[in-house]
Amino acid sequence: MEKSDPMTYVCERCGHIDNPIWKPLYWRLYWSFAPFADFEREYPTLAKQLTHRLAKTEDQYFVYQRRGKTRDVVHRYPKALSSMMNRKIYEKTPSEMRG
Ligand SMILES: [Zn+2]
Repeated sequence: MEKSDPMTYVCERCGHIDNPIWKPLYWRLYWSFAPFADFEREYPTLAKQLTHRLAKTEDQYFVYQRRGKTRDVVHRYPKALSSMMNRKIYEKTPSEMRG
């Protein structure tokens, strides 16, 4: 694997370093992207399921979608974000729920 980018996410608890192919999508908090060629090399099984533009797949932690018009890229976001997109779940904090 290539030398890790100093901006690559590192887990403070276990020291796990995220795969450096992922770069932040600046205009979408929690999303990241990678060139499809890198994705194919690092995640060959998942890449087989992204056969065309807008195809989606997921693993235990992330949802992946093939995007891009001029550049062939994959966007990724944490699965937990799907439930945050469903605003109803987050309208109340746990202490408010009890009330
Ligand atoms: Zn960790």
